[in-house]
Amino acid sequence: MDSIKYTLPEDRIPKRWYNIQADLKSPVAPTLHPGTKQPIGPDDLAPLFAMELIKQEVSQDREIDIPEPVRDLYRQWRPTPLYRARRLEKVLDTPARIYYKYEGVSPAGSHKLNTAVAQAFYNKQEGITKLTTETGAGQWGSALAMATTFFGIDLTVFMVRVSYDQKPYRRGIMETFGARVFPSPSNETEAGKAILAEHPDSTGSLGIAISEAVEIAASSSDTKYTLGSVLNHVLMHQTVIGLEAIEQFDMADDYPDVLIGCTGGGSNFSGFVFPFVGRKLRGEQDVRVVAVEPAACPSLTRGKFAYDFGDTAHLTPLQKMYTLGSTFIPPGFHAGGLRYHGMAPLVSHLLDEDQIEAISFNQMETFEAGIQFAQAEGILPAPEANHAIAGAIAEALKCKESGESKSIAFNLSGHGHFDLQAYMDYHAGILHAYEYPADEIAMALAGLPSVG
Ligand SMILES: *Cc1c(COP(=O)(O)O)cnc(C)c1O
Repeated sequence: MDSIKYTLPEDRIPKRWYNIQADLKSPVAPTLHPGTKQPIGPDDLAPLFAMELIKQEVSQDREIDIPEPVRDLYRQWRPTPLYRARRLEKVLDTPARIYYKYEGVSPAGSHKLNTAVAQAFYNKQEGITKLTTETGAGQWGSALAMATTFFGIDLTVFMVRVSYDQKPYRRGIMETFGARVFPSPSNETEAGKAILAEHPDSTGSLGIAISEAVEIAASSSDTKYTLGSVLNHVLMHQTVIGLEAIEQFDMADDYPDVLIGCTGGGSNFSGFVFPFVGRKLRGEQDVRVVAVEPAACPSLTRGKFAYDFGDTAHLTPLQKMYTLGSTFIPPGFHAGGLRYHGMAPLVSHLLDEDQIEAISFNQMETFEAGIQFAQAEGILPAPEANHAIAGAIAEALKCKESGESKSIAFNLSGHGHFDLQAYMDYHAGILHAYEYPADEIAMALAGLPSVG
């Protein structure tokens, strides 16, 4: 039998985001000031973020209204489809039912636009005319460039040097939408200059690019900063994914036994699973939840749950999260969107409380899974999303062994049309199964800040 597509009508685009903070068994640890190491308040964050986003960051309300202009923009690509991957089930010869929610239908090609349009909207509403941000492989930068051009906001993007040089196409998108893009580390900021003085050939990292974007925002009154993952409000904006999926499972007359997502900073995973996890936390309906990360950047599976900085120059507040240490420079593996030293505090908190599980795969395993999926379902996945696919296939094969007919659902966070070099490298046999060495993890973790 063929694969099935479950589509919701436009008027089913969610009217409210879901805030999991309302349902947590215990609150997340407070965010600390980088200097005093005391809990920070809204005023400390005001130089960096729009006030409405700061309020959302700490809100305990279960639901937050999605402004109508944001819903209007969502209409361009939402609701996104949920598919039952029957052709993949057949190839795997599994009794499991496999579903995936596909966020690659957004014009930016990933889930990132869900928060980009919301963040641009709130900044515009508060009279902000300029935004800065960082981007790794360029998915976040290209989504925000589209959103800011809609709202008439100037955007400056610090793009991790190695991607700036090796992945020019997403830079091309950002520039087409009118953004200014600098390779990071750059000479535009003190943080960038300091790195370049020590390492003139630095290929950069997300941690360094964040330092640069934050520095510009902190030192200019008309400029704010935006982040594409990790923060509570970003994860919340992504919950449109899971809220739609719950309705689509109703249409399918099914409910997932296992939910799976890939984790870089944690936003697409959270957006997909949090509405289901909320039901579990409220005692309404149980579900198993698995986060999948790269073996080359294993914050959840090999990192430490501790207070750490979000950036390399230590300009950001301290957050309690699973981290590999802010000095971690990830190796150049091919899922650029998963190369961050830390993990969202909310995802970290849920793992610490055993509400979710975490596993890792190396990039050979993930490309194998992604190619198997592409051949069965006809969609070329982003290398990041291949981690979720690898997790789902592993679950489906377990069902084959046990004979159990479980319902498995994963989030397909984006398409891989700008990542074809990675696929070609895989076909050419020049990718290898890199794992982050234990001694380097120990070294980066030894530098964690001490907090009273
Ligand atoms: C950015 C990105 C990710 C990783 O970021 P999260 O915040 O963990 O979701 C995963 N998939 C795609 C397609 C991305 O663009």
